[in-house]
Amino acid sequence: MYDIIIIGAGPAGLSAAIYALRASKTVLVLEANTYGGQIVNTPDIENYPVEEHISGFEFATKLYTQAANLGAELKFERALSVEGEAVKTVRTAKNSYEAKAVIIASGAENRKLGVAREEEMVGKGISYCATCDGAFYRNKKVAVVGGGDTAFEDAAYLADIADTVYLIHRRDTFRAAHTTVEKLQSRENVQFVLNSTVEELLTDKKLVGIKVRDKAGNESEIAVDCLFVAVGRIPENKDFKNVLSLDSEGYAVAGEDCITDSQGVFVAGDNRVKDVRQLVTATADGAVAATNAVKYLNALT
Ligand SMILES: Cc1cc2nc3c(=O)[nH]c(=O)nc-3n(C[C@H](O)[C@H](O)[C@H](O)COP(=O)(O)OP(=O)(O)OC[C@H]3O[C@@H](n4cnc5c(N)ncnc54)[C@H](O)[C@@H]3O)c2cc1C
Repeated sequence: MYDIIIIGAGPAGLSAAIYALRASKTVLVLEANTYGGQIVNTPDIENYPVEEHISGFEFATKLYTQAANLGAELKFERALSVEGEAVKTVRTAKNSYEAKAVIIASGAENRKLGVAREEEMVGKGISYCATCDGAFYRNKKVAVVGGGDTAFEDAAYLADIADTVYLIHRRDTFRAAHTTVEKLQSRENVQFVLNSTVEELLTDKKLVGIKVRDKAGNESEIAVDCLFVAVGRIPENKDFKNVLSLDSEGYAVAGEDCITDSQGVFVAGDNRVKDVRQLVTATADGAVAATNAVKYLNALT
């Protein structure tokens, strides 16, 4: 039996492993895909303190190496369920593992727009994160697609940086708060393209524009250097509903202490209810979740 099983080898999960191992706990990390999580394919990170520029792959490799050098055991298996009280059983397709505590750091996935070549253009003019990539488009023309709070926040953030921001939305009504909408409407460099959908990415090695179609079927091209997709995120919590309370969007309800309603179950990173989903907050969550898991384990003995 392990002291702690960590689900997810993203920034939150691997940071949790580092803290738990340094507190002399035995740790198993289960990862469904590749270590590093969402950040691995990002060409350049410029907002992680101390690292002025680092690629997502290098960031993930450094984090993994640090955890592995401390003795982290990593198995590439998707956790399918967490059950049990004092002893938790985590099942995968092939195995079941036991631990006294579990940290669920399963992250979130960006909802895709579903337009051709979207995935291939990530980092070349398609972004899902204005805070992460906005600064690369200073004085350039960008578009944001979406009609909720995130799209409006992203557009407002980008309006301070970019020359022009197009907000593209398939309706002419918004899910974002009325005051947020009014504020953005008053920005001189923001143009609303409503009742319209993005039909095509125009590319020349990188994104050079988008083709949009309005409700009447009229098509037009807009020259932009980046399209920020803000059509929602999907937290990876559905398999752990029995041990997590989820909000209406599926995020795990837990405070800054990362402690859940289920004894011995902790959450860390983008799958948790929080305002800022970034590397720095994910790694911070990992540290907090592991520290509280260690306290929980020490109180058992
Ligand atoms: C394109 C892009 C660029 C970004 N750029 C920046 C940036 O420049 N700066 C910044 O601060 N942030 C950036 N971010 C945000 C940052 O990547 C996330 O905030 C961070 O990765 C969250 O870490 P996490 O560990 O909580 O989740 P994730 O990174 O989502 O990691 C979760 C891990 O859990 C695994 N997993 C999920 N379910 C299971 C399961 N059932 N069993 C086992 N494993 C499972 C996943 O495969 C994944 O590896 C960017 C995000 C994207 C998508």
